[in-house]
Amino acid sequence: MSDYDLILVGAGHAHLGVLRRWAMLERPSGRIALVSADTHAWYSGMLPGLLAGRYSAADCSVELQPICRAAKVELITAQVESLSAEQRQVQLSDGRQLSANWLSLNVGGQVAPLAQQGDAMQCLAIKPFASFLASWQTWQQSPKPIAIIGGGAAGVELALALADKVPRLSLFCAGKLLAGHNPGLHLRAIGALRQRRVRLREYSPISRIEDDQLFSQDELVWRGERALLATGAQALPWLEQSGLACDARGFVQVLPTLQSCSHRQIFAVGDCASLPGAAKSGVYSVRQGPVLASNLMAALHQQPLKNYRPQKQSLALLATGDGGALLAWRGISAGGQVYGYWKDYLDQSFIRRHRFSG
Ligand SMILES: Cc1cc2nc3c(=O)[nH]c(=O)nc-3n(C[C@H](O)[C@H](O)[C@H](O)COP(=O)(O)OP(=O)(O)OC[C@H]3O[C@@H](n4cnc5c(N)ncnc54)[C@H](O)[C@@H]3O)c2cc1C
Repeated sequence: MSDYDLILVGAGHAHLGVLRRWAMLERPSGRIALVSADTHAWYSGMLPGLLAGRYSAADCSVELQPICRAAKVELITAQVESLSAEQRQVQLSDGRQLSANWLSLNVGGQVAPLAQQGDAMQCLAIKPFASFLASWQTWQQSPKPIAIIGGGAAGVELALALADKVPRLSLFCAGKLLAGHNPGLHLRAIGALRQRRVRLREYSPISRIEDDQLFSQDELVWRGERALLATGAQALPWLEQSGLACDARGFVQVLPTLQSCSHRQIFAVGDCASLPGAAKSGVYSVRQGPVLASNLMAALHQQPLKNYRPQKQSLALLATGDGGALLAWRGISAGGQVYGYWKDYLDQSFIRRHRFSG
């Protein structure tokens, strides 16, 4: 017999939506737990604002105990170290092994480490946020030049947030800056980076670190003591080792019902899942929340499941570190303070929606 009817693994955006819905409406019957590595769920969209000094850490995270209590879900604070898909069993960092009839995974991704020789350069990955923020506080006490590696939305937002806090900031991008976004946003981001004196290098994939030097292929491109890694999401290794069907990058392949293609009693959502048309961004994870909540309810009560259909376009709002934001929607781009107010409103509404008292 299983320990639980359902275990939610990871307090990602979609699971927060599930908990909120169950707290406000009806929750499926049975014993349900959330396993989370942290006592709080961090909202990545506000992290650049926190680094720019516009938010406090408490503004950017949701405390999990109150929302779990409201949803009548047991909170287990531990890291999942491995998963057996066949047995639907998770091994926790505190030594416990838990099994469930149903599992739902919303664990996000990790930042790929870079090959490094020597320890003259400190490398700090942007995720997990809690450990990033702890190290960042130490760095802040003695500001030094920093190289940011990763020219996606996260890398650009970080560079703009930190431009005034670091003596010299360089941003390295494997290909074109903000690849996949419209050309207008690309130009606006270059303009904003230039204005803030961030040195940008596009088409410079960093291949290795040797002592205090960054190399792109065999070219020495930067020397310094600190690098921030903001490259895209890489799959957590235990997902592929679990026996779940995964894509070539190690993300869990799911059906439109958000069930694993190989193990129907396991759901996966957000960045850890692989579904054609669904991008790895918080926006898609948030939108999967209501479908997941309804499908978990249906699954536990042996009812038919719904399909999730990824939106074709999503709005991008990139914080510029000064209270403003750059916007991209379909082929249109814009920038200014008014978009910053809009972004703040959307981000703060997300936090408010998931914050429960008690
Ligand atoms: C600086 C920055 C800014 C960003 N800004 C935006 C933005 O404005 N808009 C946007 O759409 N996207 C943004 N993103 C991308 C966004 O962060 C991710 O796409 C999004 O967080 C993915 O959400 P998720 O629901 O898959 O999981 P996540 O939000 O990554 O949450 C995963 C959860 O799982 C937990 N977890 C992980 N491993 C384990 C484990 N082994 N055991 C237990 N728990 C575990 C983590 O603690 C975390 O709570 C940004 C990213 C960064 C780095």
